[in-house]
Amino acid sequence: MSIKDNLENINLKISSEVCLVAVSKTKPISDILEAYDCGQRVFGENKIQELVEKHKKLPKDIEWHMIGHIQRNKVKYMAPFISLIHSADSYRLIKEINKQGKINNRVINCLLQIKIASEESKFGFTEKEATDFLNSDEYVSFGNIKIVGLMGMATFTEDQKKIDQEFNKLKIFYEKVNRSDSQINILSMGMSDDYPIAIRNGSTMVRIGSSIFGKRNYIKK
Ligand SMILES: *Cc1c(COP(=O)(O)O)cnc(C)c1O
Repeated sequence: MSIKDNLENINLKISSEVCLVAVSKTKPISDILEAYDCGQRVFGENKIQELVEKHKKLPKDIEWHMIGHIQRNKVKYMAPFISLIHSADSYRLIKEINKQGKINNRVINCLLQIKIASEESKFGFTEKEATDFLNSDEYVSFGNIKIVGLMGMATFTEDQKKIDQEFNKLKIFYEKVNRSDSQINILSMGMSDDYPIAIRNGSTMVRIGSSIFGKRNYIKK
């Protein structure tokens, strides 16, 4: 199956209301261009250095999304061009993104990453921490960052029911947050193995890598 076939298959399965982020991490420029030539314009990366290099080499109408855990001292490299950061997972990181947004004279759109998996290694806010942050004076004072949605990753498991429960919990929280702040209207959940479950639970944005570009050549964590 070619990248083109894979993209067509996925686009048939998801409605046009769901945004497809093509996760191109570890994949070469030529693969990204193949997807680009099929009309794909939104790409996701999880390492800032790789993101910056690809941004430099590829067409400028690509919308780049950052989906991985971010080290604060590297925010400055992507701040001039990043379209959406899915992985805003701490107050200190958001503060730095706001600072770099200001330096670049732009407002950087972010999603709050919410902890939904049972694995304790996952980064993110609890629902309570997210609610407190969204209602805080600090957030109101951050003029160069906008929280436009939530992101979550389910536990890495074969247990479909557990994944379904975790996505459902995030959907319920998302609906609550969306009711009190209509700027929050993106729910990023779902990857190659679980995006149908995520979409059934109201996902508006899926992040799909291996089902488009094939397996990555490193050991999956
Ligand atoms: C790698 C990655 C994806 C895509 O994973 P696939 O299983 O290849 O679709 C999605 N979201 C995040 C945060 C990732 O790191």
